Amino acid sequence: MMKKPFFGLSKPRVIYPPSQGAFPIPKSIPTPGRVTLLIDGALSFVDKDVLKKGDAVKTGQKVLLSKESGGYAISSVTGTVSDISVFEGDFGKIYVAVSIDSAKAEQLDDQFTAVAAEPSLQTALDFLQTAPGKPPLSMLSNLEKTIETLVIYAEDKDLLITTNRYIATSRFSSLTKGIDMLKKISGIDDIIVVTPRDRIQSYGEIGAKVRAVDTAYPAANPQNIMNQVLGKAVPVGKAPEDLGVVFFSAESVAALGDAFETGRVPVNKIITVIHKDGSQTLVEARIGTPIRNVLAACGETLSDMDRLIVGGPMTGNAIYSEEHPVQPDTDAVMLQDKADVPFVSDYPCINCGECVRVCPAKMPVNMLVRFLEAGVYQTAADEYDLYSCIECGLCSYVCVAKIPIFQYIRLAKFALSQVQTAEEQND
Ligand code: SF4
Ligand code: SF4
Repeated sequence: MMKKPFFGLSKPRVIYPPSQGAFPIPKSIPTPGRVTLLIDGALSFVDKDVLKKGDAVKTGQKVLLSKESGGYAISSVTGTVSDISVFEGDFGKIYVAVSIDSAKAEQLDDQFTAVAAEPSLQTALDFLQTAPGKPPLSMLSNLEKTIETLVIYAEDKDLLITTNRYIATSRFSSLTKGIDMLKKISGIDDIIVVTPRDRIQSYGEIGAKVRAVDTAYPAANPQNIMNQVLGKAVPVGKAPEDLGVVFFSAESVAALGDAFETGRVPVNKIITVIHKDGSQTLVEARIGTPIRNVLAACGETLSDMDRLIVGGPMTGNAIYSEEHPVQPDTDAVMLQDKADVPFVSDYPCINCGECVRVCPAKMPVNMLVRFLEAGVYQTAADEYDLYSCIECGLCSYVCVAKIPIFQYIRLAKFALSQVQTAEEQND
């Protein structure tokens, strides 16, 4: 249930930085001695007849855990499988981590090459689900949902990240080829590129409609685009695909274009490194490269109590190890000096209303936070709009009491999803 905010109308605006000409070519990170690929699924799904330590793999080869599990990654190097273990991600999500020690001589796998000349959705599902940008191809094959519109966002989901902005401006030809390919494999002609208003003039013939959004964060958020561009409000508890819309990043579409054009699965990811002073360096690294290698190539070192974040300043997740591998959807790595790590507190809410004014979902955040702090999650969901949250992080950013509201929201959603899963298993 939505509750009307009772605070004043003026609200702070956080603006994406304006476009500033062409981007320099991304810094190329050397191929690491070892890459680690994370594959969804439990370790018990690994079939030793399909994958085991000591197996040789080529660059671009499909790495399957078992014939039945369906989950796969694409090897980003040529080498030997050196370890298969369990990796626990955010909120307890379990992956199988496959480590591959790279060899000096590179050999390219030809499985995708053999089928790329005849593009189809099945071929894309078989080889490109873990391509850079992680194209959400499985949504196009879900028979329960009819998809009519594909939206490509040419902006980044968080502030200070320039990964998709770079692709949209500097890899225009790959993006155009990717749009053609999406039309061909999906049969969907209604494709819309969404760009911030200040860059709409830079789009010429791209083979899709081009629409502008505001330059205020979080304009690139799917729910915002659904409202602003498509005029469709996503009901609470639903997702854009329930309304027939699927969102692709510019990088994932460019990767589809390049893959079918060259007959090779792209294995390099563009990442924005956000330095301690807020400046950015674009880098290109093999998927699976340890973040330690990325930082070293950028001349960055972490000191005790500095913070390392995957993602941007509003919605990124702090990680504890520099060995964390670059993933197909790792758009940014951010460093924070220990002196700049935001202070969080358990001070009580002073009801200043800043979070309510700033919330794009118009939620009663000041009330919600009281229930989240007390761990009363079901009431937070039933009466205070927990599921309306589009996870932009603005409330935490403006909170004068420094309450980690956004983190509480994520935790509450996770806890409720656990309860729901347990209930479904008991039924
Ligand atoms: S993260 Fe905070 S500001 Fe953003 S939608 Fe959710 S409650 Fe509102
Ligand atoms: S949660 Fe923070 S920003 Fe929101 S009303 Fe309370 S003190 Fe103000």
